[in-house]
Amino acid sequence: MGEELTVESRVAPPPLSCPKCDGLLPNELGEVRCTLCHARVRIDHPITRKKWAEEKIGCPDCAKVLVVGVNKRPAHLKCATCSCHFTLLPTVARIEISCPGCDRQLRMKRRPGERQIECPACDTTFKVTF
Ligand SMILES: [Zn+2]
Ligand SMILES: [Zn+2]
Ligand SMILES: [Zn+2]
Repeated sequence: MGEELTVESRVAPPPLSCPKCDGLLPNELGEVRCTLCHARVRIDHPITRKKWAEEKIGCPDCAKVLVVGVNKRPAHLKCATCSCHFTLLPTVARIEISCPGCDRQLRMKRRPGERQIECPACDTTFKVTF
């Protein structure tokens, strides 16, 4: 047994904000918990579900393209060609923000809530809220 094979999905639900606090909700569908005010919110997006089912991805082992056919993420899949099992992970949204110290564009994963960021170029520390 090797390590677990994973592929990141390229289809993501649209960014949605919490109906209670207006903060950014996690990039998921179904029952989602707002990381800012802890409200439980049910969100669904049929277009994303359809795109998820129709998404084509390359097998991480043999690189053969296959249609996912599953309308949720993460999805556990098996390649019909090489029989390997792998997990299709939800898209991690990334954004670019500019450092207030040196104006450099920093690319990072977008996670809801407040984050402390240290610029690798000039060591300026600053806070961002998504
Ligand atoms: Zn909230
Ligand atoms: Zn394969
Ligand atoms: Zn900087």
